Amino acid sequence: MIVLGIETTCDETSAAVVTDGPRLLSQIVLSQAAEHGPFGGVVPELASRSHVRELTAVIERTLRDASVSPADLSAIAVASRPGLIGALLVGVTTAKALAWAWEKPLIAVHHLEAHLEAPTLSYDGVAAEKLEPPYLGVILSGGHTDLYHVEAEHRTRIGATRDDAVGEAFDKVASILGLGYPGGPAVEKCALEGDPKAVPLPRTLLAPDSLDFSFSGLKTSILYKWRGQDAKGRGPIATAPAPADICASFQATVADILIEKLRRALDRTGLDTVVFGGGVTANQALRTRLSSGLDGRARLVFPRPEFSTDNGAMIAACGLRMFAEGKTATLDLEPDSTP
Ligand code: AMP
Ligand code: MG
Repeated sequence: MIVLGIETTCDETSAAVVTDGPRLLSQIVLSQAAEHGPFGGVVPELASRSHVRELTAVIERTLRDASVSPADLSAIAVASRPGLIGALLVGVTTAKALAWAWEKPLIAVHHLEAHLEAPTLSYDGVAAEKLEPPYLGVILSGGHTDLYHVEAEHRTRIGATRDDAVGEAFDKVASILGLGYPGGPAVEKCALEGDPKAVPLPRTLLAPDSLDFSFSGLKTSILYKWRGQDAKGRGPIATAPAPADICASFQATVADILIEKLRRALDRTGLDTVVFGGGVTANQALRTRLSSGLDGRARLVFPRPEFSTDNGAMIAACGLRMFAEGKTATLDLEPDSTP
C-alpha cells in the first residue's frame, strides 16, 4: 500500500508519501513561520491563502521525490479536523478533488490522533516505536494541551487547557522577551545559558484531582518579572531577571506542571505508557525533565523531533492504518475545526 498524506490544519503546508510499515518515502513540510512572524502569531486568513498558493506544488514534488505516480497510490489521506477552518478547507478540498480525479479512496484523518501515531513512522533505516493501545496520549502543541485515554477503538479526552495552549505560552514568553517567532525554539535556545531555579514562577495545578491545565497566570507572572514589577503588577520595584534565567525557569515550571498532571493521569487510568505529540515535544530540555520526573512510572514515547511539529507523514501513516481497517470517507467530507 502507498498513501499520500496532506496536512494543512494550521501553518504548515505539508504532503508525504508513506508505505507499509509505516515507512516514509518522501515528505515536504513548508513552514509559514516567516509570513506570520511579523504578527507574532498565526493569522488565519494568511495561512489559508498560503496553503492555496503552495499545496499543489508541494504534492507534486512529494510524489516526484518518492518516484510514485498518482496511479501507484492506494489512497489519499487528509487531516480534516481539528484546525483553522479556512486552512483545513484548502487541504480537504484538494484531497477530495484528487481522490475524484485519480479515482482513489479518501481517508479523513484526525490531526491529533495522527500526532500520537507519529512515533510509529520509520524512514531511512531509522526504526520506529511499536505502539499498542491503551496508552495515555499527550498533545503539546501551539493549539492544544490535551490528555487522552487512547483505546483501540476510541479516544477519551481526560484533560485540556482552560486558557492558553502550552505552545502558545512558549510563543508569548518569546514575544514578551523579544525573542521572535515561533517562540518555542527561541525560548529553548535562550534557556541553554540560564538557571532553571533562578526565577520563582507559579505552578498552577488547579484542584487536587484536576487533569486540566492553565498557563495564563504563568505568562502574566513572566510579564511582570520582566518589567521588574511585583506579583500584582505594581512597580517597577526590582531589576528584571536575565532572559536566559526566565526562559530556563519557565521551561522547568512547564515541565513540573506536566509531570504532576501526568502522574495524576497515570494514577487515575492505571495506564503504563505515555505517548507524546505536538511541536512542543521537540524541546529537548523538556523531554529530559519529563523523562527523569516520570522515571519508572511509565514508558515514555516521543516522536522524532522532525515529526513533532505538524507534518504530512503522520497524516499518511494514520491514513494507511485507517485504510487497512476499511475506514474510508466519502466525497461529501467537510472540514471540522473542533477536536
Ligand atoms: P504545532 O502546533 O504542533 O505545529 O507546534 C507549533 C508549536 O510548537 C508552537 O507554539 C511552537 O512555539 C512550539 N514549538 C516548536 N518547537 C519548540 C521547541 N523546541 N520548544 C518548545 N516549543 C516548541
Ligand atoms: Mg503548526
